[in-house]
Amino acid sequence: MKFTPEKYNIPDEPQVPYIDTKEIWNYLYSAKPTSERIKEIVSKSLNKERLNLEEVATLIQANSSDQIEMIKTGARQLKQKVYGKRIVLFAPLYVGNLCQNNCEYCGFKATNKDTVRKTLNNNELIKNVEALEQNGQKRLILVYGEHPRYTPEFIAENIKTVYGVKTGNGEIRRVNINAAPLSINGFKTVKDAGIGTYQVFQETYDPEAYKKYHKGGRKAAYDNRLVSLDRAQEAGLDDVGIGVLFGLADWRFDVMGLVRHTNHLEACYNVGPHTISFPRLQDAAEFQVDPEFAVSDEEFTRIIAILRLAVPYTGMILTAREPKHIRKEVLQYGCSQVDAGTKIELGAYSEKENKKQDLNQEQFLINDDRSLGEVIDELIEGDYLPSFCTACYRKGRTGEHFMEFSVPGFIKRYCTPNAILTLAEYIIDYAKDDTATKGWLLIDKNIGELNEPKLEASLKMKIDRIMHGECDLYY
Ligand code: SAM
Ligand code: SF4
Repeated sequence: MKFTPEKYNIPDEPQVPYIDTKEIWNYLYSAKPTSERIKEIVSKSLNKERLNLEEVATLIQANSSDQIEMIKTGARQLKQKVYGKRIVLFAPLYVGNLCQNNCEYCGFKATNKDTVRKTLNNNELIKNVEALEQNGQKRLILVYGEHPRYTPEFIAENIKTVYGVKTGNGEIRRVNINAAPLSINGFKTVKDAGIGTYQVFQETYDPEAYKKYHKGGRKAAYDNRLVSLDRAQEAGLDDVGIGVLFGLADWRFDVMGLVRHTNHLEACYNVGPHTISFPRLQDAAEFQVDPEFAVSDEEFTRIIAILRLAVPYTGMILTAREPKHIRKEVLQYGCSQVDAGTKIELGAYSEKENKKQDLNQEQFLINDDRSLGEVIDELIEGDYLPSFCTACYRKGRTGEHFMEFSVPGFIKRYCTPNAILTLAEYIIDYAKDDTATKGWLLIDKNIGELNEPKLEASLKMKIDRIMHGECDLYY
């Protein structure tokens, strides 16, 4: 099938829908994935240049195992070269599952009468945050269904409550949000409450598939969701996260959609997305999705490698929807953040018993229910450097992923030392003995590798201060 695009390169306008399906399909159908061309594109990305849609389409259409290997090797090199071994940890906290929409894939959809509906009250919210802090978490993402009760003021109040909870040395230093898109004023309200990133996933950029799976409710309006993060930008909230729920439509189209969205934000606001999420569909109550576009493990790995090369400056988030072995495998291709110790049943963090997952209580099933301690232990074993760093955000260094990527020495000066300091804090306050032993060895090794005597000395002094009871030290 060949399409003739009606329009090319229309300049992007703020708050104007920017997906042209024919244009995207045309890029995909006319791509010529020769090994030579793929090599060129991978080298361009390794030279820290952003890829255009034609180049991304060529990577997507790579068809031999050699070509796919070239892409994966390139992504692995880019990750090592630019970001090193640091992995940032966070946990999701589900605040409320009331929802007026009917997304066919989600257990919270309005038509699902069996789901137990709940919104954490202030006391429950505090209890859950305390439990998360007692495990060592420092970064949370608050998650909500879409409901009139979840106003910007309500979300802002929750954010302030979370920041106010302190248990021993525990505190939450960064609160991100995943909730329904807001108006410009709504985004201003949550920004003023001090959020980090506001995530809105388009789910699928394919308008036909979108229509099929979003019937009724505000979310049915594709264009409104497509430009929702423009409204965030207009509100001055420039730290936004985009995402696709892989499995709803052809993954090739949706990877192009993510890159097209990135282009739009760059063109209109001079800033790309802070993070990209790429969840794969999981089983949920009354799950009604055609398996035609299910993404295999091999395709999933490829998606991550292609996205890493396409948008090399953006944070990439991998969640506990994926099983442990897949998480371990794909980390190397460029993921920079993972959740750990995840529980998605409302209020579950403060419950003593670890309950079995129940489809009527949860949005979907997760496949990695390991504790934060277990995930940290595995990261250390794999020579990754676990990090709870929130320094850039609090020092006003916005666009940190971009700086990590583009400012020479940024990782060495800020990210690695801050990862080391937050890991030292975690070890002292929360780690089991064997994790602590391995963790200190990893810290020593990473300090040695900095190869900067002044920074090493300053870092050692800060670690000493942490050992003597101080916390939250950073560069
Ligand atoms: N209700 C808001 C919305 O839809 O934008 C907030 C986000 S919803 C609670 C969080 C995300 O979960 C959705 O954007 C969707 O991508 C994802 N999700 C929903 N059902 C899922 C499923 N069955 N498997 C995996 N992810 C799912
Ligand atoms: Fe509601 Fe969000 Fe689930 Fe859709 S994905 S049913 S909007 S909670």
